[in-house]
Amino acid sequence: MIPIFFILCLIYFIFYYIKQKDIFTLEQVINQKYFNKFNLKDIKARGLSNKNIQSYYHSLIRKSNSNELHLINSIFKVIKKDIGHKYKPLLDIPIIIYIFRELENNFPHTHHNAILIPETFPLNMSYYTKNTLLHEKIHIIQRFKKDNFYRLYEKYWNFRYFKINNLDRIEKFSRTNPDGLDNNWVYSYQGIHIVILSLYNKNYKDISDVSSYGIYLDNSNNIIFPVRKKKLNEIKEFNHFFGNLNVNNYHPNEISAEMLAMMLLGKKTNTLAYKKLLEWWEQL
Ligand SMILES: [Zn+2]
Repeated sequence: MIPIFFILCLIYFIFYYIKQKDIFTLEQVINQKYFNKFNLKDIKARGLSNKNIQSYYHSLIRKSNSNELHLINSIFKVIKKDIGHKYKPLLDIPIIIYIFRELENNFPHTHHNAILIPETFPLNMSYYTKNTLLHEKIHIIQRFKKDNFYRLYEKYWNFRYFKINNLDRIEKFSRTNPDGLDNNWVYSYQGIHIVILSLYNKNYKDISDVSSYGIYLDNSNNIIFPVRKKKLNEIKEFNHFFGNLNVNNYHPNEISAEMLAMMLLGKKTNTLAYKKLLEWWEQL
């Protein structure tokens, strides 16, 4: 007879192993929730038809092999060394790596606790590689340590989170970004409230063919129609605070991933947002 104690230990260790390994299926990591957010422009920009998009994606995604995993682990070791005294346990979240081909314009991105990189991604010790992997890892931390990042956006960066009732009317023109799926972020200055979205350009060719806009809201946080919008780099109050941001850095998740990765790897920026980011990082 097997002692009950032994069985209990076995169950405990199986659960412990699963928890430690963070075993998820591809369906759990990249699921229908993401694809349900796609608007018609998202589908066209990605060259998709109305076929089963989820299974199409899954057919082009695989887990990293042992050689790739070994390289990625060595890169993260060097990143940790580079961060030095600025390192915080917050960064210790376990991740999984998937490799994809010919998806999302070959942009690295994340879902749940997985970083997805294209087959062509250089697995070396260049600044580009370290910065990109750290940027993507920060997107995962944003999901698992949401409160910390919401505090940065709201208490340090003038963003407010509001449910915008008629957001869907403009979201159908915007690029869906897995790293910033929730667009209800409002930036306020001098009594003016704007929601920030990445909108497809006229005659867009692919998902990189976008511009970032501030879209004006009324006092009840609804988008004003006919739409009043301004390109983000033409809003001087926003520019003054954040500096001249790259077109992909519009959502607070994108701005913080980019700015924090650069800060941790030793690149300083001379903006108010950077100064505030440092204050937030110090108090974590
Ligand atoms: Zn990003």
